[in-house]
This record gives sequence, structure tokens and C-alpha cells, in this order.
Amino acid sequence: MIPLDRPDLLISDAFIAGGWHRTDRAFPVTNPSTGAKLTDVADCTRDDVRRAISAAAPAQKVWARCTAKERAGILRRWFDLIVDHADDLAAILTAEMGKPLAEARGEILYGASFVEWFSEEAKRIYGETIPGHHEDKRLMVIRQPVGVVGAITPWNFPNAMITRKVAPALAAGCAILVKPATETPLSALALAKLAEQAGLPRGLLSVLPSTDSVGVGLEFTENPTIRKISFTGSTNVGRILMRNGADQIKKLSLELGGNAPFIVFDDADLDAAVEGCVTSKFRNAGQTCVCTNRIYVQDAVYDAFVERLSKAVSSLQVGDGFLEGCAVGPLVSHSAMDKVRAHIDDAVEKGGTVVLGGAPHDLGGTFFQPTVLRDATPQMAVAKEETFGPLAPVFRFSTLEEVVEAANDTEFGLASYVYSRDLSRVWRMMEELEYGMVGVNTGLISTEVAPFGGIKQSGLGREGSRHGIEDYLEMKYCCLAL
Ligand code: ADP
Repeated sequence: MIPLDRPDLLISDAFIAGGWHRTDRAFPVTNPSTGAKLTDVADCTRDDVRRAISAAAPAQKVWARCTAKERAGILRRWFDLIVDHADDLAAILTAEMGKPLAEARGEILYGASFVEWFSEEAKRIYGETIPGHHEDKRLMVIRQPVGVVGAITPWNFPNAMITRKVAPALAAGCAILVKPATETPLSALALAKLAEQAGLPRGLLSVLPSTDSVGVGLEFTENPTIRKISFTGSTNVGRILMRNGADQIKKLSLELGGNAPFIVFDDADLDAAVEGCVTSKFRNAGQTCVCTNRIYVQDAVYDAFVERLSKAVSSLQVGDGFLEGCAVGPLVSHSAMDKVRAHIDDAVEKGGTVVLGGAPHDLGGTFFQPTVLRDATPQMAVAKEETFGPLAPVFRFSTLEEVVEAANDTEFGLASYVYSRDLSRVWRMMEELEYGMVGVNTGLISTEVAPFGGIKQSGLGREGSRHGIEDYLEMKYCCLAL
């Protein structure tokens, strides 16, 4: 069992329309580090989802009429409770997902920051007046909540991917239903418990763990009361939701896969670049959508970079997330292991050389050795697909034009990273990289104050920042004749 100050935060019931419910069926949630079962969680059916939607609709109408200050106050109380219980929430997160406890705590505070931010933004949903086109016409724009929202979230950030959607939705005056990832429903349920304690009115938030992802997705796309879907996950599932949502022209926010390039020019501070690369590549064992996937290093510093990167990576401690000093936890599943292994095998077959790691870890289970591979080429699978694991392939380049072309040669466009101290190089890269986000001389870019999101097949919409609330608002133009 997980030692908690508040054992009532470890919940196995679903949160449907403001009540805690057991369902006829349940499914096990396991610790990926040990394989041990944590609990059996309620398995919601499509009928449960319908029930939650029916309750959300009237609750949303009342909520939308509250003052922004009232909504903000409840969100602020929720934020305070999350921070007060950060240690418990982090322990639940590490237990169900495997990431190191310090990283889990970081995620809880990062997740909470969205609740704080949007509690503030709730008060700034401004409209506008427009100088009229006729002397007796007065024009204005008001912004109103879209209504009831369906959210589907992934396992790699079991807390933050939920607050990043729920907080702006509630701030805007929407109601929201969340289907958390089947692997990690416990963090979502604990968040709901604290939202309830913060005084969130019944029906505005439901958390619906379910093994029937397809059924929940179909209910979200086919039920006309759901006016918008916000999804974070794979590009394939994003595509399915978009296709199924087409009949009702469903509004969509999609945060999908990436294939992040990490580019090191020969004038870069190499130690800083190595440090940024390790953070960006090995955070969450390489399982984030903004994790570096391809490392491009300019000729003159290629060997030095590979050597320093390997040295830095060799000091990363792999182990159970609850172990002091652990930097890399287990992968989420055996199929995740298979993908890392397949990418390494394919790269070696095509001329790559494993400099460090390259195999499952002695710890067994789904632990994999942090791996550095040199002489990567565009023909390798890792150049095209997101590995989502602890593999750092290093490609070589000569010119800026060449690296821009290689970096942009992907259907994805989420995060990218550049290391250089030459201002004109930096500026050109910021403009020419076809990505929604560019980190310059840093491997960590995520913050609630900036717009997170991708272009091309990495998604639609932005989360966080003053733009993040837009996804939950409709614009209404009013024309008043005097
Ligand atoms: P990942 O590879 O990160 O698990 P997925 O896109 O498969 O990415 O999963 C992200 C979320 O989407 C999870 O909550 C999962 O249960 C859900 N999901 C998976 N398949 C579907 C589907 N066909 N329709 C709706 N949601 C789905």
C-alpha cells in the first residue's frame, strides 16, 4: 500500500455527476515498477458517460451564470488543496505510473500551476466593442463558454494533462468530463476529490475511468450535448476523434505526438547542451511528447558531444521511482520496451553504433538502460517515429540549411530545441523550424504561462497561457441598431 497522510485520496470509485460510484465491473491498476496491483478501479460504461453528460448540462448553465470571481475562488481553493497534498498526490502518481518521486512532485506542482493560472484568467475573459459600420449601429463581441466538454488524457502525465484541460474549462464556465488513461486513473480521481472539497458544484466535473476507450470516444463524438473534445495522446487516436467528430462539426483541441529535434551548433556551450539534452531526452524515461527524439550535432563538435553525453547519461540512476536519487523509472509497458528495442535494432542494422546501454536493464520488468547511439541516419526508423523511451540517437550535420531541412522532414511539429550562441543562427532557427515550440539553449520549455501546442500533425489549439482559455470559449458578435 502507498503510505499517505490522506488515505481517502486513494480512490477506486468513479466520480460521476458529483457522486462517487462503484460500477458493475472494475479493472486493476498496477505499479509498472513492481507489477503489484494497487487497486481495482470502477470501469465506466457508455451509459455512465451518458449519465455524467446529462448531469453536466444543467450544472454548466448555472456555472456559466456565476461571476468570474466566484469561479476563480473555487479554482483557487482547489489549487491550494493540490499544493497542500502534493506529497500524497506525488506518491499516488509514482505508484501508478512509475516516474521518479521527485519528478512526480514536479508534475503535481506543474499541474497545480494551471489551476492557479486559470483561476486568475477566469476574470479576464474580455469582450470588445467595434466602431460601427453605420451611424446607428453599435457592434460588440462577447465571449461565452462552449458548454459541456469531453476530455481524454494519456498516462504519461496523469495529473498535469488533466488540470491543463479542466482548469481552463471550468474557468471559462464550462462543465467537463474526463476519461483518464486506463493505466493511470488514480491521480485523476484524487484530483476530483480535492475539487469536490474545494466546493466545486456537483455535475461540473466527472472522472470516468473506463476500459472502453472506444465507447467513451464515440459517446463524446456522437452526443450533441458534448460541444467540444480536448484530447492528448497519439496522433492515430486524434485522427479517429477528428473523423468521428466530423458529423457534428465537433470542436477539437488535440495535443498529439512529436518528433522533437535537438540541434547543437559548433559554437554552443557544449556542457549546457549536454545537460539540456539529458533533461529533455531522459525526463520521464523519454516518455513525453516534447522529449527529444533526434539529436543533430554539427561536425566540429560531434565526437566531443557524443563523449560528454554518454558520460552524463551513464551517471543516471535507473530504478523504482520511490528510490532516493532515482532518475529513470520503468517504461509504461512491455510494448513500450519492444518499440525501444526495435528502434535500436533497426539503427544498428543500418550502421548506427551503440555507445552506451542498448538493452533491457538488469532490474528486469520494463526497465530499460538509458541508451546513446551514434552515426544515426535519416533512413532509420528513429528519424521518423517517436521512440517514447530512453534512446538518444545522435545525427551529424554540416550546415544550417541541411539541419533545418532534416529537422523539418517529419509530419510532426510539436517541440524543438537549438543550442547556439550566435544570434543570427538562433534567430534563423526560431523562424525556420516548423514547430509550435522552440527552446533555445534550454531543454525545458513547459510552463503554465506559455502556449503549449503543435503544428502539422502534432495537433490543434494551445494549452496554458492567456491563449489556453480560448479553446473553451465561443465568440459571439452582437449588432445593435439604435
Ligand atoms: P498512448 O500511446 O499514449 O497510450 P493513446 O492515444 O492510445 O496514446 O491513449 C491516450 C488516451 O486515449 C488514453 O486515455 C486512451 O485510453 C484513449 N484512447 C485510446 N484509444 C481510443 C479511441 N479509439 N477513442 C478514444 N480514446 C481512446
